[in-house]
Amino acid sequence: MTTIAAAIYLAIVLSAALGIYLKWRQGVAAIAHRERVPAEFSQRITLDEHRRAADYTVASMKLTSLEAAFDAILAIAWLGFWLAPLYGLLAQFIAPGLSLSVAVVAAVAVVDYLLHLPFALAEAFGLEARFGFNRATPGMFIRDRLKGGALWLMFVAPLLYGLFLLLREAPNSWWLWAFFASMALMAGIIVIYPSFIAPLFNTFTPLKDQSLKARMEALLAQCGFESDGLFVMDASTRSTHGNAYFSGLGKAKRIVFFDTLLQQHTPDEILSILAHELGHYKFGHVRQRLLQAGVLIFVLFAVLRWAFAPGGLPSRFGLPDDPGVALVIVLTASASILHLLSPLTNWLSRRAEFQADRFAKGIFGKEPMISALAKLSRDNLSTLTPDVLYALFYYSHPPVPLRIAALDRD
Ligand SMILES: [Zn+2]
Repeated sequence: MTTIAAAIYLAIVLSAALGIYLKWRQGVAAIAHRERVPAEFSQRITLDEHRRAADYTVASMKLTSLEAAFDAILAIAWLGFWLAPLYGLLAQFIAPGLSLSVAVVAAVAVVDYLLHLPFALAEAFGLEARFGFNRATPGMFIRDRLKGGALWLMFVAPLLYGLFLLLREAPNSWWLWAFFASMALMAGIIVIYPSFIAPLFNTFTPLKDQSLKARMEALLAQCGFESDGLFVMDASTRSTHGNAYFSGLGKAKRIVFFDTLLQQHTPDEILSILAHELGHYKFGHVRQRLLQAGVLIFVLFAVLRWAFAPGGLPSRFGLPDDPGVALVIVLTASASILHLLSPLTNWLSRRAEFQADRFAKGIFGKEPMISALAKLSRDNLSTLTPDVLYALFYYSHPPVPLRIAALDRD
């Protein structure tokens, strides 16, 4: 085995082991505090709700640990055992060239997708159903999966063709062109997502409550936020988890509230949540996240440039020298490497959340934001007593007790 292959296998194993260890810690922390609601929440959350949140945390950590172990075994199986015979099998039907490269990537994706279905089923109809979150029917689940798969094939197969064609035609500069094309594509998807992609899965209706709408529009005007409108998404057809977000770019931005969120919160709380979202916009967090994605994509293509070169990555694994094979290896390895980098991206994200909270507090005061956060924790069964290391590694949003403490303080 070459050094680089050994390093990639090691990263896969270490990343999975670390993930499982952190999930175990998170479960232990939830159990340790299961019998007592933290004092600052005693008025807002009952002991029963607190215990259910602990049980949900433990069950969810068990399922995701199993999946992390499975993912590591699968990654090692692909690189060490399956990729070579799969390539050989496809090469019997397809002559070496662009089509074979695309076929290898697509075949790996399809097999991966099918092998992950049991986990998706266990999550929706085991875990989420057991705690009363799941509302999706098996028919809806299958439809969503088929639509997602069809979209993937429609978008990704032609893109892979384009990538491998570019590689063949411009062997030196292809990676820079591919980088610029990816950035343009990402911007395009963000622009069409709210009006064309999201409606394939959910129904969006303009917000009907006129007095709430008037207050929201006044807030948007006050913040100088241009949008394509305020929408309610029928999230309750699939899950009772509540949320709100805005998506799109420029004037095509849409503000979306899950119907589940509107049902559970008072108008003041909803306006605070909207102000928080507008805080993200005001501080340029969307631009920052795009920049982060741009840096990652640039690094990815720089790595691919090296991986695709003759005698590049596949030969280090004793695999056929084909860009499709190289791409599978890079994507498999990058899942583990990105996992190990997640504390950094999550730290940036948590910092942005504190800023957005402070912005909302500046407009409506701290009380509606605090009660909204407590309700969101209660309704999503988020543990109020996370493990410190787990939260540092995985939480894209600061734990709610810390957010409330920050609202109380600054
Ligand atoms: Zn936020």
